[in-house]
Amino acid sequence: DPRNYQPRADVLHDRVVLITGASGGIGKAVALAAARHGARIILHGRNIRKLEAVYDDIVGGGAPRPSILPMDFEKAGPDDYDRMVAALEQEFGRLDALLHNAGMLGERAPIEHADVAKWMRTMHVNVNAPFILTRCCLPLLKQAKDPSIIFTSSGVVPRPRAFWGAYLPSKWASDGLMRMLAQELEAHPAVRVNSLNPGKVRTNMRLQAYPAEDRATLPEADTIVAPYLFLLGPDSRGITGETFECQ
Ligand code: NDP
Repeated sequence: DPRNYQPRADVLHDRVVLITGASGGIGKAVALAAARHGARIILHGRNIRKLEAVYDDIVGGGAPRPSILPMDFEKAGPDDYDRMVAALEQEFGRLDALLHNAGMLGERAPIEHADVAKWMRTMHVNVNAPFILTRCCLPLLKQAKDPSIIFTSSGVVPRPRAFWGAYLPSKWASDGLMRMLAQELEAHPAVRVNSLNPGKVRTNMRLQAYPAEDRATLPEADTIVAPYLFLLGPDSRGITGETFECQ
């Protein structure tokens, strides 16, 4: 069970791992943990100041020096993704893993009253961005020895419910994309593609979704990272097309 995974200290030694949305919340916690286990992290996010703080935490802890790749998925066009991946290849020469963690909650309103522009923005950040980034990274990932792609799922996939706006269909689409890609890559069995549902985690997004909730009852992001390390590292070799729960 990936929830009880106990990674060796150097399990991600020298792996180059791109994490989107690494400026805060779950992405930041996974970046710190993966770096501590030896990975060279490419920190993606929007807010450069927050990304620099994560960078400092990683370097301060004596882990391998990461790299910062800022990009706003709401504004970026296909060329920006190509440039980002070219910069990454230039600096690291390869890519071993890609974690699609960035996401937005968007507007939650009844379908009849949902704002169309906001709906499209949420679908764009949560579905189109992982698609475009995956498309750009696949040539590099296929060259890696033990490549892994991870999408971020949600409890709204197994338990759909009312008034979640574009967020709910975006998470269904992201899981659909994961499953389709896993099958497309059957001819490249080294590349595995899976998704993780983090469960309830004390982050800004959770606060936005449940403002009245007692935050003290929620686990911190750094307590749920074991399944992420499992899927990023060699111990999940051969597993593809699956969704795992972190809690
Ligand atoms: P946070 O809101 O704390 O972090 C979201 C991250 O995504 C930030 O790093 C943010 O960057 C980045 N991001 C958002 N919009 C954009 C954009 N337009 N362009 C680039 N980056 C962007 O959320 P969580 O840590 O809670 O969520 C992480 C993932 O986990 C999401 O996919 C979420 O759907 C999923 N999830 C979370 C749960 C929870 O309980 N917290 C439960 C189930 C799923 P920046 O700070 O620079 O804006």
